[in-house]
Amino acid sequence: MSGKKRRYSRWRLAVQTAAFLVILINPFLNYYWQFSFVQGWYQSLGIGKLWFVSPLEGLESILVSKTVYLPLLIGMLIPVLLALFLGRVFCGWICPIHFLSELEDRLLRLLRIKRRDLWRLPRMVFWFALIGELLLSMIIGAPLFVFLSPPGLVGREIMMAVFFHTLALEGVIVVLVLTLNLFTRRFFCRYLCPLGALLAFLGSKRRLLVVKREEECLKCGLCDRACPLGLSPSQGEGASLYCWNCGECVDACRLNALAFRWRAIGPRVQSDSQPRDE
Ligand code: SF4
Ligand code: SF4
Repeated sequence: MSGKKRRYSRWRLAVQTAAFLVILINPFLNYYWQFSFVQGWYQSLGIGKLWFVSPLEGLESILVSKTVYLPLLIGMLIPVLLALFLGRVFCGWICPIHFLSELEDRLLRLLRIKRRDLWRLPRMVFWFALIGELLLSMIIGAPLFVFLSPPGLVGREIMMAVFFHTLALEGVIVVLVLTLNLFTRRFFCRYLCPLGALLAFLGSKRRLLVVKREEECLKCGLCDRACPLGLSPSQGEGASLYCWNCGECVDACRLNALAFRWRAIGPRVQSDSQPRDE
């Protein structure tokens, strides 16, 4: 990747760092200074009177309790709207698991350790993970992802450390997710994360896409190699529902053949994999 062209990577790192600092610093503010304007982490986050609830944990709670609780629906509204319009941007720009995975990437690059994506599974696995997780939660009558979600566990472990000076055993799941990255980049995010799958599903008709200008493309494959999810933006997969709009492929292309574009609202005349490049 060219040294001067890391536009989106820089912005993403800044947003991810700010998002991580919120869940890192906030428990200290809550515990030592009783400053509770912000509470919780990215499963359920309160900012003043506003509450944001992760769509998967909210859906699980509704399915398990068989009760629709209005404040819960209101809390899910903004994250759901965000996914509808922008797709998996929570994954690409906010989730602490992706942030830690990016730090892991940087460390491996520093140590000059090269990786290949050794394990590739059918994309179907992603949807099975979502359906399986919801069914299992309903069968056992407990919202599994509320307790065991890797993105949620990061915030919970920080809170446990500050409030109780200990760590929960489930935190080992986060270590496992980061270990899987050594064999295939974002293995958990590609195939196993039910929240990622739900956000991808919600964002299947999203407005923000990565599109390719055919005439500029040299078919060099740089963008495909840059994609942490193993997608092929050179083949139009930047517009697929799996893409989390991170911008890594856009930065990688030296010829500016890839770009973010807004898809116009209205009747669709082209497939998702080849949106109109306005
Ligand atoms: S797929 Fe799951 S763990 Fe990965 S970035 Fe998205 S929410 Fe986080
Ligand atoms: S296709 Fe591009 S924007 Fe989408 S996930 Fe891959 S690198 Fe990120």
